Amino acid sequence: MRKSFGCRAPLYYTTMTDSYENLLKQAYSNITEKSESSERFVVPEAKAYVEGKTTVLENFTEIVSKVRREPDHLMKFLLGELGTSGKIDGNRAIFNGKFEISLLKMIIKSYVEDYVICSECGKPDTRLVKDDRVMLLRCDACGSHRPVRKRKARTEPVSENLEEGQIMDVEIQSISKRGDGVVKMGRYIMYVANSKPGMKVKIRISRISGSIVFTERAEE
Ligand SMILES: [Zn+2]
Repeated sequence: MRKSFGCRAPLYYTTMTDSYENLLKQAYSNITEKSESSERFVVPEAKAYVEGKTTVLENFTEIVSKVRREPDHLMKFLLGELGTSGKIDGNRAIFNGKFEISLLKMIIKSYVEDYVICSECGKPDTRLVKDDRVMLLRCDACGSHRPVRKRKARTEPVSENLEEGQIMDVEIQSISKRGDGVVKMGRYIMYVANSKPGMKVKIRISRISGSIVFTERAEE
């Protein structure tokens, strides 16, 4: 179509504006991208509650989508660490047994450290890839990859069977509703009075009831 000079000028002007705006847009998106990737990666706080004999992790899906992993992968990890069974139910995960929310938070934190965060650059822009039979954590941000860390015990080596009278060093992991320090050890949950998360204490097992372990402080 032939354009008269009269409308060419505005057209030209518009084109100029467009390209300028595009440039601006581009520049802006570059900045946004940059600030997004350097923004602190924050996994949503676990929201959980005990319901009957189960523990419900309300925002399971929210957490999964933030860490960008398969729901089943995180679920399997949670079940393994809690030493229980359970199921994914809509956006929630349900675990058999009563668990402290602080324990769930800790387990999710270690999942993120092991399966999400790049140990080279500290960024979460990673993928799990299988190389032969080894699971690798590949980082899109810096290109590094490492084998997924083998689970190391969060505390002292877990003895398969604890015994009453046994003396051991433990590190308090969380705090119970009643204010006792909690140590999760395999299928056991140990309670240590007058202690705080992070404290290392020597304890004597005074009583074991099912998976519940009662302790007293042992002399140093
Ligand atoms: Zn990296």
